[in-house]
Amino acid sequence: MHCLICYKHLQPDTTWSTLFTSAEKQICADCESQFERLIEVSNHHCQICMRPLKESLNLCGDCFAWRERLDGRDPLKRNMSIFTYNEFMKEIMTLFKYRGDYELIYVFKEEIKQTFVSLKDFAIVPIPLSEERFNERGFNQAEAIASLAGEKILNLLKRTSSEKQSKKTKQERIFFNKSI
Ligand SMILES: [Zn+2]
Ligand SMILES: [Zn+2]
Repeated sequence: MHCLICYKHLQPDTTWSTLFTSAEKQICADCESQFERLIEVSNHHCQICMRPLKESLNLCGDCFAWRERLDGRDPLKRNMSIFTYNEFMKEIMTLFKYRGDYELIYVFKEEIKQTFVSLKDFAIVPIPLSEERFNERGFNQAEAIASLAGEKILNLLKRTSSEKQSKKTKQERIFFNKSI
């Protein structure tokens, strides 16, 4: 068995504790140590987007500005993130999105499952890919990750633009995301 990220051979772990855990390790300790969990980085976060914040604030500057601009009609109610978007995560997203490395979704399997266990009354609606992107990649990464939760997926959204997100400026991306 090999690490899904760096392909290093994984030593089978034969301690008594691991014999009884159902989650099999898919990545090596080196790779695992490079993930930063948001709840470990800070214990105070923006109430909408989960960005780490100073204790005295409830909303970050971006969420505050959007609330003002959309006058409380912002369709984004709350974002939950598990990991920070550090350099390591950027590398993984590049492998995932641009090299079509589907197997990498299993890196996040346990974390996603555990996060969904804590949620009640929800529907999973992945952000759709443009047809152009879908044909290029062969899968929708949002739907692939969402499938790890083991719940029903509803494809309710339709894409109105085929322009690639990563080619846009931050301002354009924010506007696009907020306007879905
Ligand atoms: Zn590794
Ligand atoms: Zn925020």
